[in-house]
Amino acid sequence: MTLPQGLAVLPKNERVIPIPWSAGIGADGKGDLRSINLAKIRNAYEQNRCLICGRRLGDFLGSC
Ligand SMILES: [Zn+2]
Repeated sequence: MTLPQGLAVLPKNERVIPIPWSAGIGADGKGDLRSINLAKIRNAYEQNRCLICGRRLGDFLGSC
């Protein structure tokens, strides 16, 4: 299965699942799908960024 460009560039966990840009950091220093990074949520809101990949959104807000 081919991942969309925004997901393909994200780091993957041990199960090869892309870690969203807005995910928190676990005790092992890696992205943790079970938590969120509140600073990135605020950054996404203020700068119109995608919560999945962190890229700037276009005129039509959503995810890319
Ligand atoms: Zn995106």
